[in-house]
Amino acid sequence: MIDLTIHEALEKLKSGEISATELTRAYLDRIEKYGDELNCYITRTSERALADAAESDKHYADGTARALEGIPIGMKDLFATRGIRTTAASRMLENFVPEYESTVSQKFIDSGSVLLGKTNLDEFAMGTFSKTSYFGAPVNPWHLSDKLTAGGSSGGSTSAVAGGLCMGATGTDTGGSIRFPSAITGLVGMKPTYGLCSRWGCVAFASSLDTPGPIARTVDDAALMLSVMAGHDDKDSTSESAGFNAHTPLEPILGDGKKLRVGVIRELNDVQISDDMKKLFNDRIADLKSIGAEIVEVSIPNILDALAAYYIIAPAEASSNLARYDGMRYGLRVEGSDLIDTYKKTRAAGFGDEVQRRMIVGTAVLSSESYEVYFMQAARVRRMIADSFNAAFKQCDLIVCPTSAGPAQPLDSDLTPLEYYALDMFTVAMNLAGIPACSVPAGLAQNGLPLGVQVVGKRFDDLRVMQLAKHIEQFAGVDNRPTKIMGK
Ligand code: GLN
Repeated sequence: MIDLTIHEALEKLKSGEISATELTRAYLDRIEKYGDELNCYITRTSERALADAAESDKHYADGTARALEGIPIGMKDLFATRGIRTTAASRMLENFVPEYESTVSQKFIDSGSVLLGKTNLDEFAMGTFSKTSYFGAPVNPWHLSDKLTAGGSSGGSTSAVAGGLCMGATGTDTGGSIRFPSAITGLVGMKPTYGLCSRWGCVAFASSLDTPGPIARTVDDAALMLSVMAGHDDKDSTSESAGFNAHTPLEPILGDGKKLRVGVIRELNDVQISDDMKKLFNDRIADLKSIGAEIVEVSIPNILDALAAYYIIAPAEASSNLARYDGMRYGLRVEGSDLIDTYKKTRAAGFGDEVQRRMIVGTAVLSSESYEVYFMQAARVRRMIADSFNAAFKQCDLIVCPTSAGPAQPLDSDLTPLEYYALDMFTVAMNLAGIPACSVPAGLAQNGLPLGVQVVGKRFDDLRVMQLAKHIEQFAGVDNRPTKIMGK
């Protein structure tokens, strides 16, 4: 049962061939067997899962099954879940049990899905290998004995989906945290248009960039999950009125004489990527051409400055958002000699090194002497990048580019903070512009590890983005069945 896609499982549930309880038990067994080794869940919710499944079986019995009825999912541990510990992978929130439910997780409840647990991530979603987690890093199920990263920050979600420890999972993408981990675990990761999915109840990192989205094994499954997640929310002032109501399986956007202009970004040609990535990218472009895509070169002149702008704006917003963790309201409190000392001791003990680094950078770039030269300059670059994408989308309908330079690296790679930041080269520009981007498997590298490419669209073109991604998925033909990946 572990190898079924969400769509296949829904068919079997509808026909009565399997029950939601059986399906859930299969996943709980799998979590029992491999959960510790993959370290993909921070908190497991087995009892809740069985109760959810029993409820789903009733819905199937009385003909009231909903969109994801009985589908076992993982929830990134950044989404507040009522009565279930929500840690953001931080010591600061190690024992935090919310009294409210995030909008996204509520939508999963309302769709009839089964909650298996809260997935691991980088602390407060800051990182690229999920190594900044207070609970240790999740492991990539591909080449398991090599102990590779499952990426970050949604690395627990990608580890769990790729390893067959849930059928789909949520992620959040502030600078690539859905797309990068999905690419290096052979999965589909969709960062929707900013504002399409509500951020309410999702632990804030950088509010103008944070974007919840789905991670799944196929584009159709991701599209179905996004249909459930998206929609306006009065509780999030940046939430848009648009929804996403895909009829899945998605219709082809190419073939049968259909024409589409697909852009490739000139400036990215000069960026160093692995030979495998180069080859797979060119192969997939050739495939799209063969079914009627016209390939157009477009220019995003400032795209190489996106990293610098992102690593000013994101820490700036984070330093403000994380000011609330002061030991007074909730979360960790370490008593000091006076109020200021309590603040200091609490924050020093509660935050890990990377979070502290970002608090320092963020506070510095917002200080009166740096604000104009750093923060405002970064804001201008951000505007220019968004404008360039808008201009590019006059010359083409969608853009395709690599998701990463190369495949998953060993968890024990010793990278400097700047080397980690540089891995976000291909992903941050879309967050700065607020536009949708979907990473889809492009094929396997020579060493057998998966690589991904992203399809990028203009704001609210999420559906077309996923339609084109589906063509790429079919051409790539990567076998990402969990029992194949893990060999068990
Ligand atoms: N790697 C990026 C960072 O560390 C992206 C994180 C994210 O998207 N949450 O900021």
